[in-house]
Amino acid sequence: MSLLRCPGSLEGQRFKDNAKGSAYDQLWAIGGASRHIHFNPTPGLLSCADYPASMSCGGTIGAYGAIVLANNCVAKMMASSGDEILQRDIMANEANSMWPITQLSGTDRRGEAFGSAILDPMIGGLGAFSFRDGVDTGGMYLVPKGRAANVEQNELHFPVLYLYRKELPDSGGAGQYRGGNSGELVFIPHKTNRIIQDTATSGAAVPTGMGLFGGNPACTNEYVMVFGSNVREQLAESSIPCNWQELQGRVERLSPKRANIVQESSDVYVIHWAAGAGYGDPILREIALVQKDLVAGSISHGTAEKIYGVVWDYERDLVNVDATERRRQKLRQSRISTFNANSTQERVQESSREFGKRLSGALWYNKRGNSSQWQCGQCGAFLGEGRHNYKVGAHMNRYPVTEGNRLIGDPAAFVDVSIWWNEYCCPHCGVRLDTELVREGDAALWDIEIKLGE
Ligand SMILES: [Zn+2]
Repeated sequence: MSLLRCPGSLEGQRFKDNAKGSAYDQLWAIGGASRHIHFNPTPGLLSCADYPASMSCGGTIGAYGAIVLANNCVAKMMASSGDEILQRDIMANEANSMWPITQLSGTDRRGEAFGSAILDPMIGGLGAFSFRDGVDTGGMYLVPKGRAANVEQNELHFPVLYLYRKELPDSGGAGQYRGGNSGELVFIPHKTNRIIQDTATSGAAVPTGMGLFGGNPACTNEYVMVFGSNVREQLAESSIPCNWQELQGRVERLSPKRANIVQESSDVYVIHWAAGAGYGDPILREIALVQKDLVAGSISHGTAEKIYGVVWDYERDLVNVDATERRRQKLRQSRISTFNANSTQERVQESSREFGKRLSGALWYNKRGNSSQWQCGQCGAFLGEGRHNYKVGAHMNRYPVTEGNRLIGDPAAFVDVSIWWNEYCCPHCGVRLDTELVREGDAALWDIEIKLGE
């Protein structure tokens, strides 16, 4: 039976999440804070199995799934508190908690049986904060002293040869503050004819880093095998591949729950893992920060232009500020070009230069008479009554989830239901208020309700 699917263990995992955001200054001494938290799991759900439900590694996955959701829930509570210190402590998902596990076994160069697990993907990116970027390959906040495996030691003790292990540009979710990037590793068998592998993870069809207050999702977990590649020929010519996509061979995305995968001598095994989610609308990101990311290779030029609206001047080798302003304005307009003022969204009518209280950079609320009104923090437009879901007064766009991050694989490979990435924007200025990952037919999540004087 999986311990992590037990309510008691789940409580411990979930509390770690709260401790990360609101009790980080009481590390290892959380007893006082824990007495203020009530834990009421519902038996029979994915995160709290009940007899005779099956177990296996689904227990770990259920617990981490709950942690990710709890993170966003608590973050929105902190945003709604009106307390500037709590609002500053908000952090988007660190999606790497369910990092992709690979168990490998076989016979090594001495003819002896071996078995191990690849732990490198513990170096995931941390989610974006409300005031700064997440940490690239920063690890897992659930494991404060966790370490990635050492490549040299892996090669010393097990019959594998790494072609590379590197940080993966664009893997973190875009945002006003960017989620930390994760990584990718690629290896082949070394001085053995074959390796047997088992995969185990979640977040391969749907990203586990969802984005907060308009931030983009991080990449998904991904296993790939390039069967029958030309890697041996390249190595014989003293050429070490730096991108597996440049290899020839039959490429197959591997199922995240697959056993007894045979990796032959020329088969190339690839893993890239989930990263930190973004916070806030990417088109609100300071241009200088996007330029810094481009120079450092943390994001690609394609992502800079498509998602951040930043245009690069290739002749001068820096950002074209004027073209960027035009591009960002165009992006805003395109988001609301299909807005229908006669729809249920017609309640959005007035604006005010007086701003109320801040939840995020783009989402505010304001007191009007005896009630509260949702308000766009960028243009001052009122978005409906605070006792209703602000998403009703926003303009929604629906995209395939793959639009959220270029490193999200097509979910159709692993799940039957369609997965969408919804974007809620101010219908007046087009700034993004929030995003959601939903299944076909899911209603908009009513996540925040404002009640005054109660
Ligand atoms: Zn607005």
